[in-house]
Amino acid sequence: MSNWHVNLLTLFPDMFPGSLGQSLSGRALEKDLWSYSCVDIRDFGTGTHKNVDDTPFGGGAGMVMRADIIEAALLSIPKPQQGRIIYMSPRGKPLTQDLVQELSTQQTLTILCGRYEGVDQRGLDAHEIEEISIGDYVLSGGEPAAMILMDACIRLLDGVMGNNATPDDESFSNGLLEYPHYTRPADWTDNAGTRHTIPDILTSGHHKNIKEWRLKQSESLTQQRRPDLWECYQKSKK
Ligand code: SAM
Repeated sequence: MSNWHVNLLTLFPDMFPGSLGQSLSGRALEKDLWSYSCVDIRDFGTGTHKNVDDTPFGGGAGMVMRADIIEAALLSIPKPQQGRIIYMSPRGKPLTQDLVQELSTQQTLTILCGRYEGVDQRGLDAHEIEEISIGDYVLSGGEPAAMILMDACIRLLDGVMGNNATPDDESFSNGLLEYPHYTRPADWTDNAGTRHTIPDILTSGHHKNIKEWRLKQSESLTQQRRPDLWECYQKSKK
């Protein structure tokens, strides 16, 4: 097993590794810098149809994943190999870069991917399962949410980004959005005939001034686009 392993509890194991098998995360998977295994929740279903869900007590639309089935799936992973147990859920605490950083330093995670209306609350309570949300919208299942969490963690693992690593400069790492980037050609005319050059400072070779310019750009973008982050940043500076 690699140094960062994720156990996925899912009804759709074939969805993995999905996009995580490509590009940076895919190469890291091949190099065994991270690994995953899937537990198919269906294997723990009941009856001839291997049911994993039932109607909600109290009425209402949709189906709920059963606590006993979720528990059986979870307990199929030996306790010492479970690590931190997470349920991807729109009700969970928001996935932030700080949380990603924290999760990328754990050796093992177990991620429960919900479907239908979600999971019987007792299954979550019995195992003190932590709920994490990837944003204020509702997906049809937890698998894409788990992939997003994993993608964000994988790029922070040792050896994954190599010399291209710039996590300290990136959006959210210092409480700000990242400054704008420019590359060649320095002088470019778009399809409509408008000419676009780049800020002179970037070709000045004056690293201190470039750093200051970038910080100003970051601050101004954050102030315009994310007043919530801007407020926290200003408080942290005081
Ligand atoms: N009834 C739930 C609610 O209103 O909070 C939504 C259930 S959703 C259709 C099915 C599953 O998708 C959830 O159990 C969860 O695992 C996953 N999911 C949906 N949106 C998510 C989000 N924003 N973050 C993380 N997981 C999400």
